[in-house]
Amino acid sequence: MRRERFIAGNWKMNKGASESLEFLRKLSVLLEQGEDIPDNVNMALFPQAVNIIPMADHIRSSGVNVLLGIQNIHCKPSGAFTGENSIPCAIEAGAKLALVGHSERRHIFREDDLLVSNKYLACLEQGIEPLLCVGETEEERNRGLTKDVIERQVSSVFSSDRVIMAEQERILIAYEPVWAIGTGMNATAGDARECCALIRDLLSGLGGPSLAARSLISYGGSVKSSNSEDYLEQEEIDGLLIGGASLDPDEFYRIICNAF
Ligand code: PEP
Repeated sequence: MRRERFIAGNWKMNKGASESLEFLRKLSVLLEQGEDIPDNVNMALFPQAVNIIPMADHIRSSGVNVLLGIQNIHCKPSGAFTGENSIPCAIEAGAKLALVGHSERRHIFREDDLLVSNKYLACLEQGIEPLLCVGETEEERNRGLTKDVIERQVSSVFSSDRVIMAEQERILIAYEPVWAIGTGMNATAGDARECCALIRDLLSGLGGPSLAARSLISYGGSVKSSNSEDYLEQEEIDGLLIGGASLDPDEFYRIICNAF
């Protein structure tokens, strides 16, 4: 049986509250007018943190079946950390998911493997579902280090004996090669499939085959509706994490429709 699908948009530092709500209104119309979306297709959006409350209110009242996630969290639930987002407050606002280890956090904000691993653990402890992003830079790819980087980034989170993997219903990971994010240079479907398969093998080794089998591994990096099917038809790729193309409701909807 096919695993669930996971189609998520990362809006990064884009869209104010009114634009975010306008997006949801347009998406609701498209979803109402189009074919029924099967229950196994999970749709998620990661807006700016300040827009989670109005979006969650809109989702509750309109019934549109979209999960909200927060783009960045702090490990501590509260305290003197000016400018950071607390997990309990994100949950109260309506977030169900949290991005952890996104390449922009790793490379622009210098988050290292230890911090990513601590953030992942904080998500589990404080009750929000983490979506871990991993992927190599262009230089690492040119040096033939893609697999080593993925292995290091995955195992630095899951080999920690503080992460009790077996207790997780599923694990969400996005393979996002850094050189493909926002560049228009997407990975080939074959390369993305190999990397997603490698991640599943790693999960199997770390947490057992059944956890690996029910985990959702997505690809991200310059996905648009015109190339989304190439990825989604690969057995090992369960979903997509989409940046730029997810800002347009028509485009996001077309990608959702390619998932079933
Ligand atoms: C991302 O931000 O995770 C991403 C994949 O961006 P884009 O689709 O724009 O490459």
